[in-house]
Amino acid sequence: MLALTFSGRQQISLSRVPTPKVVHPGDVVVEVTLAGICGSDLHPFHERENGIAKGCITGHEFVGHVVSVGSQ
Ligand SMILES: [Zn+2]
Repeated sequence: MLALTFSGRQQISLSRVPTPKVVHPGDVVVEVTLAGICGSDLHPFHERENGIAKGCITGHEFVGHVVSVGSQ
């Protein structure tokens, strides 16, 4: 699947990443239709915050459809 990923200071890339799947009983997989990028995402983008690995998928505050659930 395609995702926006953090690539380094002020660099966001459109990258192919593995399609998520249920691994643990409490997991839920959501097919995201909309995602927000807010100030929390801008801190690592501007390197005001460390600890975000290159290749990390950016954005949060998702809206989407549940497509798969774990056993719990
Ligand atoms: Zn936020």
